[in-house]
Amino acid sequence: MQPELETPVRVRFAPSPTGYPHLGNIRTALFNWLFARHWGGKFILRIEDTDVTRKVEGATETILDSLRWLGLNWDEGPYFQSQRLHLYHEAADKLLKKDHAYLCYCSPERLDIMRREQMKRKQPPKYDRRCRYLSQQEKKQLETSGITPVVRFKTPFEGETTFHDLIHGSLTFKNNTLDDFILLKSDGYPTYHLANVVDDHSMTISHILRADEWLSSTPRHMLLYQALNWQPPQFAHLPMILGPDRAKLSKRHGATNIADYQKQGYLPEAMINFLVLLGWSLDDRTELLSQEELIKHFSLERVSKTAAIFNKDKLEWVNGVYLRKLSPEEFVQQAMPFLDRDLPPSVKRPLDSGYTHQVMPPIQERAKTLAEVSQLSDFFFLDELQYDTQLLLSKSIEPTQATQIIQVALQRLEAVKLWNTTSLEDILRPLAAELNLSTGKFFGLLRVAITGRTAAPPLFQTMAVLGKERCLKRLSEALQRLCSFNQNSKT
Ligand code: GLU
Repeated sequence: MQPELETPVRVRFAPSPTGYPHLGNIRTALFNWLFARHWGGKFILRIEDTDVTRKVEGATETILDSLRWLGLNWDEGPYFQSQRLHLYHEAADKLLKKDHAYLCYCSPERLDIMRREQMKRKQPPKYDRRCRYLSQQEKKQLETSGITPVVRFKTPFEGETTFHDLIHGSLTFKNNTLDDFILLKSDGYPTYHLANVVDDHSMTISHILRADEWLSSTPRHMLLYQALNWQPPQFAHLPMILGPDRAKLSKRHGATNIADYQKQGYLPEAMINFLVLLGWSLDDRTELLSQEELIKHFSLERVSKTAAIFNKDKLEWVNGVYLRKLSPEEFVQQAMPFLDRDLPPSVKRPLDSGYTHQVMPPIQERAKTLAEVSQLSDFFFLDELQYDTQLLLSKSIEPTQATQIIQVALQRLEAVKLWNTTSLEDILRPLAAELNLSTGKFFGLLRVAITGRTAAPPLFQTMAVLGKERCLKRLSEALQRLCSFNQNSKT
């Protein structure tokens, strides 16, 4: 499967700006990019913007941004097909001259009725080739009728079209299953088939790596290459990406747009590592690969023939691993914009950088995404904690006992001079024994009072970072909550 070395590797990513790039698109871009980098070839970016009716505003910019975010740098382009129309017209003219194509004047209404009738008869919708058989006289008449024709390809009725796919092997399609597809539309724009073939040829693309969904287009493209007397590139159709329920990946499986993953706080390196495993593997075990390793090892031999399954938990796991690989400094740098975006407005901005540095180490240990960081750490930043008083009581401690415990803890902590993780542990551990409480119960109660939640980073570390003043204030607040709870339950 090694590319023939006399042809330099030139691959392309050719998205249509008909929507925002999703995981599948970017996985295709990544495989092309890795293939180019592995072989020291070129990665070309081409925007296939010939479907004017389906063009989505801002889609091209988002595609470029997503590629930039992931570091999938391109060597040429972006080329825009809408700026290359003359090339497609030239090719269409050539095909018309060589009698591989014809002008079709059928109205959209006629085609629509035909399609509906075919569907009724449970036949695949196909153009009936009426204009392929027009007499000279009919042609003349139509030429002067003012109707703008489309150009259709004269698909051979007989025979088969075979091509070799680098992943699926040899594939054969019967020509009589294909119809006389359109090459140039009446608006003067080419169809995907024509523009794609013309550009892959004119950009001397050596390998086409694209999703399986395009497989059924490839025999048409092969026929075009033959008719134009051009050497086709090599093809490799990449497996589909399915949701855990084996349905085509869609919104209901979670975010599908790459930009959403960026907003949710996934790191580009983690995304790359996760995406590459959707259809490629190094072996049966390795889950984590650096970019250098990927470039070194990427090969089409290890691309699977069968669909890849998207697993959100795995993505989160991979991202967590990459977050923990960051230096504490890098982590804070990455987390800052997310904290700024996500912490409640009551938290004063700009955030205190020194304090944030102290807060983050235990959060870095736990976060699976950067978007989780504020939720995991907001109690470090908030002046007032919002929580349900019931949490103070859920540790099988009586309300009156809980009150006493907090009172004692408060007294002891007020007296502390040196406030750090070790000194706090030295005071609070023996206190649990003195109060005849398990450390689990005692620290659990303190954790709720200090953080407003039952699960949080290690208690002494948290208290050390929060500082004495804030901890004492929170313990007094917890005490007040318990007192009013006790009063309310008496009345
Ligand atoms: N424009 C097509 C797309 O949106 C390109 C398919 C191909 O790579 O040939 O995916």
